[in-house]
Amino acid sequence: MTSDDMGMKGTLYTCPMHPEIRRQAPGICPKCGMSLEPVLPTLEEEANPELDDFQRRFWWTLPLTVGITVLAMFGHWLEWFDMRTQSWIELALSLPVVLWAGWPFFVRGRCVECERSPNMWTLIGWGPVRPSF
Ligand SMILES: [Zn+2]
Repeated sequence: MTSDDMGMKGTLYTCPMHPEIRRQAPGICPKCGMSLEPVLPTLEEEANPELDDFQRRFWWTLPLTVGITVLAMFGHWLEWFDMRTQSWIELALSLPVVLWAGWPFFVRGRCVECERSPNMWTLIGWGPVRPSF
């Protein structure tokens, strides 16, 4: 075990909004759903798995989002499909975007609801679901 490993092992993590929350490992604040940050941040460039996950979900669903936008905005001009078929295609393209790309928001929003303190994650999580269904 290197000295770096030992240093990371003793790192404490806290919520930027709730400094009373202290954990031995990175995670999510039980009060507001934000990512826990090291109490003593380092200047070293560290991997950010949360950012990597959000970027992966964004880039994989971007083509679907472009397809939905084109169909919704120009579908009646293009007349590629009848309206009933187009609606089903839009639903099929929307479901992965809403459910898979939005999954982290739903998890955090639900976690916060368990603590009975709805906040921005609850709002973000419910935002795409309400108009979709
Ligand atoms: Zn918090």
